[in-house]
Amino acid sequence: YGDLQGKTVIVTGASSGIGKAIALRFGKEKANVVMTYNSNPDPMEEMIAEIKETGGQAVAVQANVSQEEDIRKLISTAHEHFGALHVMVNNAGIENEVPSEKLSLDDWKKVIDVNLTGAFLGSREAISYMLEHGIEGSVINMSSVHEVIPWPHFVHYAASKGGVKLMTETLALEFAPKGIRVNNIGPGAIYTPINQEKFDDPESRKSVEAMIPMGYIGKPEQIASVAAWLASSESSYVTGITLFADGGMTKY
Ligand code: NAD
Repeated sequence: YGDLQGKTVIVTGASSGIGKAIALRFGKEKANVVMTYNSNPDPMEEMIAEIKETGGQAVAVQANVSQEEDIRKLISTAHEHFGALHVMVNNAGIENEVPSEKLSLDDWKKVIDVNLTGAFLGSREAISYMLEHGIEGSVINMSSVHEVIPWPHFVHYAASKGGVKLMTETLALEFAPKGIRVNNIGPGAIYTPINQEKFDDPESRKSVEAMIPMGYIGKPEQIASVAAWLASSESSYVTGITLFADGGMTKY
């Protein structure tokens, strides 16, 4: 998608998994990439170098997406380094499986704070910036197949992603007249650090694969290509959708 060249993109939760693949993909598109890491800065220098090698530019910022001041710092970093913000990818997320009757208020709040409040703050601040600077940008939120598929022991996670679904649809309606598009990606089962322990266990891997019509667990790069499309003008008439990249899982 040639038109991402020179565009500025923020990717939250870029130090691993899907976020890392998205940041590297935008690097290949020769974009300016502002990446966040939460606590472990180890992979960032390597990623910055890789993005430069492929023709993009990159900077890494420590940020907790559920903190307003961190999100503001992120937007100002994009502005200071690259003078604009065209694409915001609210990717950071957490999950853990807990039977609902044992789920502590603390665990409930943590998941809602990162997955839903984090996506809201990232969307709000990015949209404010785009409005202020007259940019017809693209906001991409990382939802999940669990925005439509309920799942035992995932009540907090499913609630957070269900919230992201309607938040995105509402923002899409509100800012369509300004040319700002807001969409979700709904990954199915993707092999990343969030779930690799589960997927490395042959039994649970088999049970997950049985739910995927295409028969295999996806790769982060297969989500990154969807993010690149939603960011580019190739999707210029698309807003308010969840694009499921799930090997057909939601159609079972
Ligand atoms: P991951 O654990 O590799 O990546 C999550 C990233 O978010 C990490 O880099 C982590 O440091 C960051 N993060 C966590 N809390 C944060 C916070 N408070 N502030 C800033 N960053 C924070 O997992 P992943 O699979 O790459 O997940 C990325 C997104 O994709 C998540 O939103 C997840 O819910 C979603 N998702 C993943 C799958 C899957 O099967 N892997 C499926 C559906 C949706």
